[in-house]
Amino acid sequence: MSFVWTIAEQHDGKLKDVSFELLSRGRKLADKLQTKLASVLIGHGVSEAAMEELIRRGADEVYTIQDPRLENFVCESYVRVLTKLIKTWKPSIVLAAATSSGRTLMPYLAIKVNAGLTADCTELDIEEGTGNLLQTRPAIGGNIMATIKTPDHRPQMATVRPKSSRPLAEDTGRLGKIITVPVTDDMIDGRVQVLGYRKDATEFVNVEEADIIVAGGKGLKKGDNFAMIKTLADSFGGVVGASREAVDRGWIAYPHQIGLSGKTVSPKLYIGIGISGSIQHLAGIKTSEVIVSINSDPEASLHKVADFGIVGDAFQIVPELQRRMDKRKGGSI
Ligand SMILES: Cc1cc2nc3c(=O)[nH]c(=O)nc-3n(C[C@H](O)[C@H](O)[C@H](O)COP(=O)(O)OP(=O)(O)OC[C@H]3O[C@@H](n4cnc5c(N)ncnc54)[C@H](O)[C@@H]3O)c2cc1C
Repeated sequence: MSFVWTIAEQHDGKLKDVSFELLSRGRKLADKLQTKLASVLIGHGVSEAAMEELIRRGADEVYTIQDPRLENFVCESYVRVLTKLIKTWKPSIVLAAATSSGRTLMPYLAIKVNAGLTADCTELDIEEGTGNLLQTRPAIGGNIMATIKTPDHRPQMATVRPKSSRPLAEDTGRLGKIITVPVTDDMIDGRVQVLGYRKDATEFVNVEEADIIVAGGKGLKKGDNFAMIKTLADSFGGVVGASREAVDRGWIAYPHQIGLSGKTVSPKLYIGIGISGSIQHLAGIKTSEVIVSINSDPEASLHKVADFGIVGDAFQIVPELQRRMDKRKGGSI
C-alpha cells in the first residue's frame, strides 16, 4: 500500500505553520499517486480541533500519539514512535520540515528504518511511470539543482525547507479520520528527559515567522550601520535580516542570515538594503509577498526581482524613510 506521510510539529500543544506547509506538498504527491495523505502528530495536549485543521488543510488521516512524556521534542522517543508506526503501516513517502527538530529527527529515523534521506528539498514530484519520489535540492553551492530518487528503499524520506510552500486554504467540507495510536512504554526512551530550556540568540529573532523583514548587506559598509536597519525594522514592527556577507563580516549574528545557507523567509514585506541579490540570497526570499530593494547599482539582481526598486545611496534613503515613518507615527503624514 502506498501512503504519503507528513510529520506535524507542535509546541505547547499548538500546531506550527510548517505542519500545514508540509501537507500542501504531501497533497500534491498523494494526488499524483492516487493514494492517501496522513499527518503524524506526536505531542501532548493537542486538541481535537487542531487535528481537524490538519484534515481541513489536506490530510486524509491523522495519526495522533499523545502522552505527557512526548510533550517536548525528545529525538530518541520520537524516533521510537515513528519507527514503530512506519514498520506497522509501511508508508511509501515520509516528509518532515527542515527545522532544527526535523533535521535532528530524520537522519536518526532513516537509519532505524534502513532508508535514505534527502535533506532540505525545495521541490518534490513524482516520476512518471515508476511512481518514485523526485527530491530536488540545491547542490554545489546552489549553482545546480540536483534531483535525487530512491528506487530501492522504502519509505522515501525527505526534509523540506520551511516557508518554501504555502499551506492550502482550509476546506471546511473535507472529511478525514483521526487515528489514536496508544503509547506503549517501549516508545519512550527514559534515558532522556527535558529539564528546561536555555534561551539563546536564535530565540530573539525569528526571521522565518516574521511578516516584515528589513535586511542589510555588504552595502552597509560596517556593522554599526545595522543600527539604522534595526530602527527602521522596529518602526515597521518587523525584524532584521541580513545577507551572508554581513554575517561573515561579523556585523550581525547568524540567526539573521537569509538565503541558501541561512533561513528561508516568507514575509508580507521584505526590504533589502545594500544587498546585491545573489542566487543564494534570492533562494531564501522567493516566497515573500512584496520585495523592496534599495541599492545604488541600477543593475543589482535584487532590483530585478523586486516589486519596488529604489536606486540610490542607502545612507540617504534609509534616514529619509525613517523620517517619514517617524512622522507617520506622530500622525503628521
Ligand atoms: C554555498 C553558498 C551558500 C551561500 N549562502 C548564502 C546565504 O544563505 N545568504 C546570502 O545572502 N548569501 C549566501 N551566499 C553568498 C552569496 O553568494 C553572496 O556573496 C552574498 O549574498 C552577497 O551579499 P551582499 O549582497 O550583502 O553583498 P554584495 O554582493 O557585495 O552586494 C552589496 C550590494 O550593496 C550595494 N551597495 C553598495 N553601497 C551601497 C550604498 N551606499 N547604498 C545602497 N547600496 C549599496 C552594491 O551595489 C551591491 O549590490 C552563499 C554562497 C555560497 C557559495
